[in-house]
Amino acid sequence: MTARETEYELVLGMEVHAELLTESKMFCSCSAAFGGAPNSHCCPVCLGLPGSLPTINRRAVEFVVRTALALNCEISLHSIFYRKNYYYPDLPKGYQISQYGPAAIGTGGYLDIEVGGAVKRVHIRRVHLEEDTGKLFHVPGGKSHVDYNRAGVPLMEIVTETPPDMNSADEARDYLTRLRAILVTLCVCDGKMEEGSMRCEANMSIRPIGSAGLGVKTELKNINSFRTVYRGIEYEFQRQREIVESGGRVVQETRRWDEARGATAPMRAKEVEEEYRYFPEPDLRPLDLDPEWIDEIRRTLPELPAQRKRRYIEQLHLPSYDAGVLTSSPAMSRFFDTAVDLYPEGSKVVSNWLMGDFSRLLNEDGIEINESPVTPSMLVEMIKLIQSGIISSRSGKEVFEEMHRTGQPPDAIVKAKGVTQIGDESAIEALADQILSANPDVVEKFRSGKEGVIGFLVGQLMKASQGRANPEMAQRALRSRLSKD
Ligand code: ZN
Ligand code: MN
Repeated sequence: MTARETEYELVLGMEVHAELLTESKMFCSCSAAFGGAPNSHCCPVCLGLPGSLPTINRRAVEFVVRTALALNCEISLHSIFYRKNYYYPDLPKGYQISQYGPAAIGTGGYLDIEVGGAVKRVHIRRVHLEEDTGKLFHVPGGKSHVDYNRAGVPLMEIVTETPPDMNSADEARDYLTRLRAILVTLCVCDGKMEEGSMRCEANMSIRPIGSAGLGVKTELKNINSFRTVYRGIEYEFQRQREIVESGGRVVQETRRWDEARGATAPMRAKEVEEEYRYFPEPDLRPLDLDPEWIDEIRRTLPELPAQRKRRYIEQLHLPSYDAGVLTSSPAMSRFFDTAVDLYPEGSKVVSNWLMGDFSRLLNEDGIEINESPVTPSMLVEMIKLIQSGIISSRSGKEVFEEMHRTGQPPDAIVKAKGVTQIGDESAIEALADQILSANPDVVEKFRSGKEGVIGFLVGQLMKASQGRANPEMAQRALRSRLSKD
């Protein structure tokens, strides 16, 4: 077999960094809030000045335990912080305090993903706690500025198991979507990839399908949106395939996604772990966790997306596909839950609106459901207007779009637009007479056996009523007239 005929598969693992939503930083009492005047959230501890001593943020530990439990990890009751030494201008101490290898709070977990109806278990190697770096700003004139407000903000790292379980860009995107839903549900991270509070790095290699070995991997950084995850991974998969197929060798390196070029570009040769000269942080005692505290955290975990999905399927009898889409975003499932509370017998129709027109409009605007002025009660009110025959479902789509654009309640839109459905028998019969006398040739066709033309006549009637006639009544009125004589 020549190389060209070999089919390759992608082997992909992921590291996710999530900024934790604590009030204060990881090892000092400075504010961990996003933004602020440059270098206004700093103190001797997060600047690493001589003589300063770090103390561990209990809330940050709790957030990592919460996440590790939600990801089915073992919790280490005894864990250690290390110094990861490297020099970079955004790292004022010259080292990052991090957890290293098996000394992490959470180990050996998993997250189930679902792509194309197939469930796959992605194993998680560890969930650990560390601190963020500051930010560099490169300004015109070849100068750079540094802001240490972010230096020392609690950062959680979630690393998938080696050898990696994922084999496609679709799987990677689904993993990230579900992980984000968990973090947001747990209120430990806001999950905003565009703002950098959730960042991911993918390591990727390829191998001939069916072979068990692992190829040389590259690491992809600078992925800052869900769209980029997919594009970046697809690009890198293609790039590696082309190298191997033309007889070359993939070089182990870190590459970054270049959004402007729509391509990955080399960044630097990968440091090997030893170069960080890890050693236990001498200013911190080992972290010993009380098993009762862990149990309490476990007991008070909120309903997680996977449990919610099961509830939608088992109790609300939603199709698995609907349940998966609705639980992929916590804001979406919160909206759905509230709407179903208001209209318990309408779960499927609410789900249809959320997955159909509503999702389409949200995608067009690039916003989340909680950023639309449409509330659960407005949606339910509109669905009830359709179901009681006051407006047609076609007008419903129009009313919905208007609600989304203006935030006006549905009844006001219906009044203003005059889209009330014509459900008055005599009005529809008058329209039917009008349509039949205007189309004698079509009536002739119907009577000679071509009953399919009824669709055309109904369409004409709907048009004459500006879409407001009740379509079933229109159909009935036309048929009864055509079958007479
Ligand atoms: Zn500080
Ligand atoms: Mn890290």
